[in-house]
Formats: sequence, structure tokens, C-alpha cells
Amino acid sequence: MTTAIEQTLETYGIENWGAGYFDVNRKGNLIVRPAEGDSRSADLKEIMDDLARRGIGAPVLLRFPQLVAAQVRKLQRAFSRSIREFEYQGSHMCVYPMKVNQQRSLVEEYLREGSRYDFGLEAGSKAELYAALALEQTADSLLVLNGFKDEEFIELAFAGARVGKRVVIVIEKLSELDHVLNIAERNESGGIPILGMRVKLYSKGSGRWEKSGGEAAKFGLTTTEMLEVIRRLEQADRIDMLRLLHFHIGSQLTDIKRIKNAMKEAARVYAKVYQMKVPIDLLDVGGGMAVDYDGSKTAFDSSANYSAQEFANDVIYTIKQVCDDENVPHPTIIQESGRFLAAYHALLITNVQDEIETVVEDITPIEIDDDDPQVVTELGELRESITVKNYREYYHDALEHREELFTLFNLGLVSLEDRAKGEVLFWDVCEHADKYAQQAKYVSEEFDDLRRLLCAKYLTNFSVFRSVPDHWALDQLFPIVPIHYLNKPPTEYATLCDITCDSDGVIDKFVDLHDVKQVLELHALVPGETYYLAFLLVGAYQEVMGNNHNLFGMPHEAHIYIDDEGYLIKKVIRGTTVGEATERARYERSLLHDGFRRLINQRVKDGELSEAEGAELAQFYESRYDAYTYLSVNGAKTRSRRHTDY
Ligand SMILES: *Cc1c(COP(=O)(O)O)cnc(C)c1O
Repeated sequence: MTTAIEQTLETYGIENWGAGYFDVNRKGNLIVRPAEGDSRSADLKEIMDDLARRGIGAPVLLRFPQLVAAQVRKLQRAFSRSIREFEYQGSHMCVYPMKVNQQRSLVEEYLREGSRYDFGLEAGSKAELYAALALEQTADSLLVLNGFKDEEFIELAFAGARVGKRVVIVIEKLSELDHVLNIAERNESGGIPILGMRVKLYSKGSGRWEKSGGEAAKFGLTTTEMLEVIRRLEQADRIDMLRLLHFHIGSQLTDIKRIKNAMKEAARVYAKVYQMKVPIDLLDVGGGMAVDYDGSKTAFDSSANYSAQEFANDVIYTIKQVCDDENVPHPTIIQESGRFLAAYHALLITNVQDEIETVVEDITPIEIDDDDPQVVTELGELRESITVKNYREYYHDALEHREELFTLFNLGLVSLEDRAKGEVLFWDVCEHADKYAQQAKYVSEEFDDLRRLLCAKYLTNFSVFRSVPDHWALDQLFPIVPIHYLNKPPTEYATLCDITCDSDGVIDKFVDLHDVKQVLELHALVPGETYYLAFLLVGAYQEVMGNNHNLFGMPHEAHIYIDDEGYLIKKVIRGTTVGEATERARYERSLLHDGFRRLINQRVKDGELSEAEGAELAQFYESRYDAYTYLSVNGAKTRSRRHTDY
């Protein structure tokens, strides 16, 4: 006998994609663990209740920095195990690519844990470099600079070298080399950065970012350009600066075969460059380690057909083989994994606000009488006599009658009341047909479509564009799970609609072990009870790619530490207010408040409002400046910033 909790674990696939961090406790609440196999845990429902008491309502982004540390350890362990197993002579270091999520709390936690293994940072722009330069890193860790660089960028890199950082300027274009050589001439005192070359590999990755690799890639030097860099450095007597070779064939690499091929090619290039008497000793294999968002362990776009250990084994083994074959020393392997380190640590929790009805039930019962148009009485008869034997035929008849109903309405032959009756009867027939169809052994496609049409639409208090932009832009799947009631079997099928006024603001694809689910199993909404859903594994890219559609700003944020007693809320950061969101579109506070007051004054002058009413109205409007941009949960008014402790 499986228990209800075992059943829900399976329904939502928690053990498949959870990587040991997520589970359900005996109360039926979703919990987070600080590491796989750790007995400590935090109850997400308790955290939400706690936050609500402090005036922090949904949506809230919960950050668990311990999960970043746990991922760092997992990655490091996998590589050190492979290095031992294959007797690899070099070492492994990571540089976290800041573009994945630049949030300071995350980067600091990464550096804190990573400092034990000399893990460093990767920056791809002047702003990222600017932030990275002020952070503390260990003496041996690297600060790798990728992306297109102008003279200013390179000057900033030199400043980093002068304060003692091991800065690596990765040459993506020949013009960057000219800037480097010029600045190096002027800048003899203090440290000189290391140089790297980004190579354009012939090998491509797999999955959505396949275009990042291959000959037509946006980044990297061609073979001739690479030889030119070496020639110019030799000519300038600076060849000793060139110590790193870099490639990156894309993010979320789903297929291990493609990764192996790229490693083979890159290791061969590395060996050939070494044999040209270049003092190269660092091989940067880029990022791309995938996160298994759906838990299917396949080469599907939202999954990966390998584990961290398998990835490490293939990288280490392949590079060793090629280097041994070419008789060159094993390089230090630099890895730029971002998604793998950041994805698990953040989750968004929000409430289902309401249901959007396709079929409005229980408004007024339908009564059919002799005065009704024939199309209505016929739909009524279908409803009365549909059975498990005739449901297919009757469903088809109902579709036809509905067509007829709208045609007659457009011709002015059917009243609004009769149209309403006809619609209700039609959906009644559909519900019956759906029920009978689901009892059948084989459900044909048309009844699958009907199921989707009939499923509940849960109006959910968030913006797809702000919080899970990759679902909208790339069809990326994220696990979605209620954080409570998990000891009760879900009874509804639903899709989620967000609160933007954009028809793209929906989630109608969900993770599944074998397929992509079109509807999600959820519980029925109970009036007066808050129903919370968690969107998981949103720590990589979602925050930085999220946009301001409809001026929904950043959700509230809370940083949680898990200890022996449960959880500790370390920090609460309030989400964007109405005022901040409007100001971002250049509506200054004074402009708005003056504008509204001008309208009030006119009404007072016209005698439509009293002075007191006018003042009250102005005060009301101005007080809303500090309100949260999202809906208030179950009618509880959003409290303004001034009245809370944070
Ligand atoms: C984006 C990027 C990464 C990070 O890739 P992940 O898939 O997040 O690991 C690493 N290196 C470079 C050069 C990148 O552009």
C-alpha cells in the first residue's frame, strides 16, 4: 500500500528532480534540506506563515544559500574523485560565471564555500568585473574575463592584477590583444594579467544553446586568428602571458556524447598550442553542465542524460587521453559552471488567487421550456440522454449544435438569455463526455484536447515574465508543487494563469518523467484558505532575465538558513513598490502626486467634492505609493513600507 504522501511524491516527481534537497514531511508540507542526506530541514509552509505575520505576503522568493554551498561540494567531489581514479596529474578549479545570477548573497556564499578549493569568478562585462574586483578571493583562485572588451574593460582588468588578483583576459577578438599589449607597455609596475584565447570549436553542444558552439558561433577565434595571437605575442616578447585556452559550447548541455566530442577537440588544440612552445597550463572547459529540471535523465531540453560524476569522469578521462597521446603535461582544468551551482538555491512561492471559469456553474439552474429555440432543446436532450455508450456521438452532436447556436445568435435569431442557456448545456454535455472518455481504456486525442479545455485555470499571483521568463521565452520547464496538503491526493487538473494582462502569461507545460504534462494535478480551492504553490529550481538566470512587464517588480525576498531547530530567516528584502515601479518608467513621485491633486482641486472648485473628501482622496492615492505591485493575498491589504519593521 502506498501512502498518500508517497503518491504525491510520485505525482510531482519530487525525488526525480529534487537532487535530495526537497521532500515532504508528515504534515504533508514541502521541506528543503541543506544537503542531500542531511536530516535537518525547513518547512516551507511554516516559513510562509512566519513571513505573513511580519507583513510579507506572497509572492516571495526564498533563497537558501546553503544549497549553493552544497552544489559547490558536489561538483568539487565529483572532480576530485575522477582525478584520483584516472590518476590525472593536474587539478580542477571553478570560476562562477556572474551572469547566471549576480546576487551578492549567492556570490558571497559561493566564494565562502569555494575558497576551500580555490574557486574563483568569471565576469563578462565591466559591471560584473567591477563587482568582482571588490570581493575577496583566495590567492590562487582565478578571475576570468570573457566577452567583448574595450580599452576601459582591459584597464580595469589590469587594475585587478595590480591589487594581486589572478586576472585572466580571454581574447575573443584580435583587437583586444592590441589594447592588452598597449596597456602592458605603459604599465610595468605591479601585476600583469594572464592571457587566454577563446577557440571556436568545430564541435557543437546539444539542446537549446547548440548555436553557441560550431564554426558559426558568435564567440571565439578561428584557427588562423589563434596563430596570429601567438605570432604577435612572440613578436612583442610577451608569449609568457599566454597560459589559458578557453571554449564554451553552450548552456544546459543535454547530451554527454557532444560534451565528450568537444573535450577531445579542445584537448587536441591545447596540446598543439603547447607544442608550439607556448607556456600554456590552463584549460578552461566553459560551463554548460545541465540541471535535470524534469528529472527524466534524458537528453530532453529540460533534462540531462548524465550525472555530475559522469560529466567529471568524461572531462578528466578525455583530456588525459589526448594529452598522453600528444605527450604534453596535463593542464589545470578550469570549469565555468553556473546553472548547476545556482539553480537549486532559489524558489518562488505564491498563492493561487482564484479560478478563471470556463464553465460557470451554479449561477442559476437551467430550465428548458417549450418557448426555447430548437437548438437549445436539442442540447438539453443530449444532456439528458448521454451515456457511456453514446458519448462520442453525442459529443460530436453537441459541437455541431454549438456552431448552430452562435450562427443563429449572429443573425439575431437567438436572445442573449437563450445563448447563455445553450452554452451551459453544451459544457454540461462536455463534462459528461469527458467523464465517460476517461473511463475508456484508450483515450483518443480529441478527448485529450477536451480535458485540457475543461481543466481548471488557476489565477496565480505572479508574473511569468518576471519570475520564470525562460518558460515564456524557451519553453523551459520548472517543477511546480503545492507546499502543503501533500498528504491529500490532488483532485483537479489545472493550468496556471499569471496576473499580467498578456495571454502568454500562462503555464500549461509541466515536468513529467516520460512526457510533458499539459495539466498539473492540484487540489481544489477552498474559499478562505490560501493555497500556495512553489516554483522550484529558479536560481539560475530567471532573476536576471526577468522583466518589468505590466510593472510587476521584484517579489519580496527572504534568505533562509536551515539549522537543527528548523529554519532561521536571516534577511528580508521588500519587493518593488508601486512607486518604485512607476518611477522606473520615469514617473517621478512629485509628478504623479501633483497630477492627481490637480484633478482633485478642480473637482473641489467645481463643487463635486468637499475639501475634506478631496484631502482624504489625495491621502489615499499617496499612501498607495508604497504598496506591493502584486495582488494582496485573500483580501489582506498590502501594508506600506512605513508600517513594518523592515
Ligand atoms: C553563460 C556562460 C557560462 C555559464 O554556463 P552554464 O550553463 O550556466 O554553466 C560559462 N561560460 C561562458 C563563457 C558563458 O557565456
